Amino acid sequence: MLIGTDPATFLDNEPDLAGQVLEWADVRRRTDRFKARHRAEPFVRVLEARHNDVWRLQARRLLGASEHIAAGHPKVCRLAAILVTGGLASADDIANLDDPPAMTRAQIQSTLLGDSDARRTSHNEQALIICDTCTLMYPLPPSGEPVAGRCNHCGGDLLDGQERASIPTPAQRLHSIESRLRQMEVQCGRSTVR
Ligand SMILES: [Zn+2]
Repeated sequence: MLIGTDPATFLDNEPDLAGQVLEWADVRRRTDRFKARHRAEPFVRVLEARHNDVWRLQARRLLGASEHIAAGHPKVCRLAAILVTGGLASADDIANLDDPPAMTRAQIQSTLLGDSDARRTSHNEQALIICDTCTLMYPLPPSGEPVAGRCNHCGGDLLDGQERASIPTPAQRLHSIESRLRQMEVQCGRSTVR
């Protein structure tokens, strides 16, 4: 993400930075870890600053996607789960916010669980599996089959329904992102004033 998806473009557009990274890779092969880390400091600072810039843009974009947030769409949950750890989303993940959400989370949920399963949800979460990213509930696989695989709607890991309490809700993740963004903006403001 930081150097783009095409290394050749990175080399063309940012010859200095690319040169430093390539030179460092060579140093890293020939020297010990401590020296290599020391040599990396100048461009690591540049990459970190850039990482933070992109993170702030992505966080603002996500927090501004009120229609998607209101729909609770799994794609939004996926973005929130990436950004809340300080990571950066791919261009494709961000592009998911361009079009209005086709379905709400509630609509998707009701297609996943038939009436009988939906009735069980509130009574017996052990009978269901849950996505650790968008918290969609899926019916248990036929008896004997292990609970494994990925959520069809966001790519999250599927866990036993009993794990539900340990999974942060998408709203909690969005809230953490908002706090972190506000904190970063305060810090940026200070460094600009200085
Ligand atoms: Zn999911």
